[in-house]
Amino acid sequence: MLSERLTTILPDLTFNEALEITKIHSIAGELDTQKGLITKRPFRRPHHTSSPVSIIGGGRIPKPGEISLAHYGVLFLDEIPEFKKSTLEVLRGPLEDREVTISRISSTLTYPANFVLIASMNPCPCGYYGTDDNKCHCSEQAISRYIGQISGPLLDRIDLHIEVKPVEYKKISSDEQCESSKEIRKRVNNARKIQLQRYKDLNIYSNSELTPDLMGKFCKLDTGSKELLKNAFERLGLSGRAYGRILKVARTIADLDNSENIQKMHIAEAIQYRSLDRKYWKH
Ligand SMILES: [Zn+2]
Repeated sequence: MLSERLTTILPDLTFNEALEITKIHSIAGELDTQKGLITKRPFRRPHHTSSPVSIIGGGRIPKPGEISLAHYGVLFLDEIPEFKKSTLEVLRGPLEDREVTISRISSTLTYPANFVLIASMNPCPCGYYGTDDNKCHCSEQAISRYIGQISGPLLDRIDLHIEVKPVEYKKISSDEQCESSKEIRKRVNNARKIQLQRYKDLNIYSNSELTPDLMGKFCKLDTGSKELLKNAFERLGLSGRAYGRILKVARTIADLDNSENIQKMHIAEAIQYRSLDRKYWKH
């Protein structure tokens, strides 16, 4: 439910983005010609039995796959350990490069694939590991085999790890008003505006596109934040890639907070989203 709603809080689509999305869907033969220009960010949810070609793209006449149909939108992989490991590994390139190159004997084609990846998984095959009532009876081997489907390098490329506890009845049935998507989108659009302004001379438009050089310039940390990050690294055994990703996430949290500089609490929040490194991959 949460992932399906993400597109409702992503920044407003620009005209150029809408054109690009429409072109890809047209090439894939998925365009509703009655409707014309696509004006909403796509949400794609391929099934775990989908072939690697349908997800990555390809075929005799190479067509865009799900990762390109999700361009400027969301790709949702429900129950990610159920997907073929070979398919998941191919995602690593596009997650880094934001495009995918499909090689055929006759030609090589590149399609854009700049999407937000959302993946969900259970903590173990039965789904009860770590819950308060301790109903899980999975063996340790079964759990590590299940988790092992997601490689460390793929996990490194996922910035936010969030554990979702079972929802209590009183919360589902509560009629307390939550913040609406419209309200949240205002904050997101504001953070996007800050980034457009900051990077206006650099030919990039968001924190996620910062190169290591630019990170040094725009993600400066004070002594306290540096110390916090250093400790987290030693404690969690994070990779070099995770370091850059934590900085970019902290930059975004600071932007959402309207804060010119990254503060210690922004770094702390960004580190907290790497819970899976700590929980499963470092023993
Ligand atoms: Zn279990």
